[in-house]
Amino acid sequence: MGMPTLAYRVDSAVPPPGYSTFIVGESSLATTVSFSSFTTTSATAVDSTNSNSTHWSPAHSSTLYRIDNWGAPYFAVNDSGNITVRPHGSSTLSHQEIDLLKVVKKASDPKSVGGLGLQMPLIVRFPDVLKNRLESLQSAFVSAIQTQGYESRYQGVYPVKCNQDRFVVEDIVKFGTPFRFGLEAGSKPELLLAMSCLCKGNPEALLICNGFKDAEYISLALLARKFQFNTVIVLEQEEEVKLVIDISKKLSVRPVIGLRAKLRTKHSGHFGSTSGEKGKFGLTTNHILRVVKDLHDSDMLDCLQLLHFHIGSQIPSTALLQDGVSEAAQIYSELTRLGADMKVIDIGGGLGIDYDGSKSGNSDLSVSYSLEEYASAVVNAIQVVCDRKSVKHPIICSESGRAIVSHHSVLIFEAMSTTDTAPSMNQINLPFIELSEDARSDYWNMSDAVMRHDNETCLFYADQLKQRCVEQFKEGSLGIEQLAAVDGLFDLVTKTIVETEPVRTYLVNLSIFTSIPDFWSIGQIFPIVPIHRLDQKPEVKAILSDLTCDSDGKIDKFIGGEANLPLHKPGNGQYYLGMFLGGAYQEALGGVHNLFGSPSVVTVLQSDGPHSFAITHAMSGPSCADVLRVMQHEPKLMFENLKHRAEEFCGIDAGSCLASTVARSFQNMPYLEPRSSCSLTAMNNGGFYYCNKEDYYAGSETGANEDEHWSYCFA
Ligand SMILES: *Cc1c(COP(=O)(O)O)cnc(C)c1O
Repeated sequence: MGMPTLAYRVDSAVPPPGYSTFIVGESSLATTVSFSSFTTTSATAVDSTNSNSTHWSPAHSSTLYRIDNWGAPYFAVNDSGNITVRPHGSSTLSHQEIDLLKVVKKASDPKSVGGLGLQMPLIVRFPDVLKNRLESLQSAFVSAIQTQGYESRYQGVYPVKCNQDRFVVEDIVKFGTPFRFGLEAGSKPELLLAMSCLCKGNPEALLICNGFKDAEYISLALLARKFQFNTVIVLEQEEEVKLVIDISKKLSVRPVIGLRAKLRTKHSGHFGSTSGEKGKFGLTTNHILRVVKDLHDSDMLDCLQLLHFHIGSQIPSTALLQDGVSEAAQIYSELTRLGADMKVIDIGGGLGIDYDGSKSGNSDLSVSYSLEEYASAVVNAIQVVCDRKSVKHPIICSESGRAIVSHHSVLIFEAMSTTDTAPSMNQINLPFIELSEDARSDYWNMSDAVMRHDNETCLFYADQLKQRCVEQFKEGSLGIEQLAAVDGLFDLVTKTIVETEPVRTYLVNLSIFTSIPDFWSIGQIFPIVPIHRLDQKPEVKAILSDLTCDSDGKIDKFIGGEANLPLHKPGNGQYYLGMFLGGAYQEALGGVHNLFGSPSVVTVLQSDGPHSFAITHAMSGPSCADVLRVMQHEPKLMFENLKHRAEEFCGIDAGSCLASTVARSFQNMPYLEPRSSCSLTAMNNGGFYYCNKEDYYAGSETGANEDEHWSYCFA
């Protein structure tokens, strides 16, 4: 539908008032290209095609971004077009819903207007969601056990490697105390943190010690048993059994031992690469028999009480799950027959998350079962095997990590700017374009094709014209203004003919390597959605590019197999995007590529006050000084050096003033600061810049440097 307009423009010798156009001279293309008029016209054309944009509603956004599919029952869109968090899942009352935009404003608004002055990006944690996930998992097993008449109980542990954040682990211990929920550790520091957190937990809560172990790890685990934690040392390699036997004798502790079995069942998805007979972890059948013999010979076979296995994360279907659990239940029964005092079957992790909401069992991004179906499949598989072998039903332990923590946090970041590939340059009056003969004939052929409404030919010549001009530019016979004009013409032609909005790149105030490491490393896709403006139609197709100087620092794959994300045109205010379901693994895996550190964090509880929420903790992300220290730099010395340098070259007074600007940069986070309180003010003495003192102090108060961790409450 843009064709006639274009034809008119290209063809008309005398432009109508308000329009300039190509005026084609004899041997050159003299142009007074009014890009602004093109843009206005084409923008109108786009708007009229999308005239239904006035009928857009939050419900349309909910469908477009599949929010109900992956977000229910925790995330939805409210009437104002903002993402709303339902902290208690399906039992959330309407007045308990939390408007995510309000949280972000409260966290990021300057202190002078009542905000917390935190820099973006921001992780918002919802402990209520964590509690709901934990209770849902528990009740799924409780109800499967009741329905199927299973004669023991479920007693889960949380594998801390999924998110070792102190508040996450402490909350899980607290919320899980009524049902003896425990922790799983896979390394010495994880064991230390698990022991410390379980001091406040249920005394019967399990403390499962997995991972490769040395004498120190084993001693620590044995001490944990002395301290009356319900510790189980799970043997990962055959050699560990000797250490356990020796050290437990030395420390005179009777250990509780588990074994990790290497199953034959293989999970073929990405996360299953360590499963199966050739997997990296666990004991083979032969190893198991030798361990049993060693324990028997040391009179410790009664210490062997738990069988552990882990099929892999993100188990796609209950069919595979049942297969693995049944195999493990057979091993469990055999261990009982061999004389071990078996009590617990620990089915590992792998309870999956439906990241794209597709409920599909053949993608790493989705799973085809619900929590209830998972629990039911596990209970059934164990029961069938144990009944057949007349083995007492074991306590069922699971190490679900992803399923517990994924939903509880949201990563918020800003889209800062966008590349505008649509022609939008303002009124560039080109003096003269020296085109080659060939280019000129391309231009004429293109114009002819426009007249004949022959789009394909038109595009062909437009493309050829552009290529020729690029060649001319490389040879030095075309100036940069002319090249820009040709680019603009090309974009205009393609846009008008193809009538599709080009895909735009939005710069986001984020490091993918730090905050979404799994996207970069294993192609894990998370749902990303604007957290506001969802009552407006998103009219731009976008990909996201992060702040790092790394070509991998971009997101161009989205849920639903999409190569771009519908976003709104940048408006006047901030534009916030949320990445959801990233509560597991992302925080601990992230590095400091390009020295971008982790985001700021706020913890938000549902509250019955006027705002329906309270921020209970807030912490600024690492400052530039903090991330520099990670790489062994000494920010204090660096600053002293720079201060001397400033004084040497700018004079003592001005120099020390300028140094305060540098000092502030050390204290701020590495990310962009769109509403910088450091409004650099020009001094009149030689164009020096300095920071407004007041702002400086206000800013430094939130400096992560001071390891400040304050409690804040309103409502
Ligand atoms: C990683 C891991 C888990 C957690 O797996 P999820 O899929 O996140 O539930 C549990 N157990 C072991 C041994 C693990 O290595």
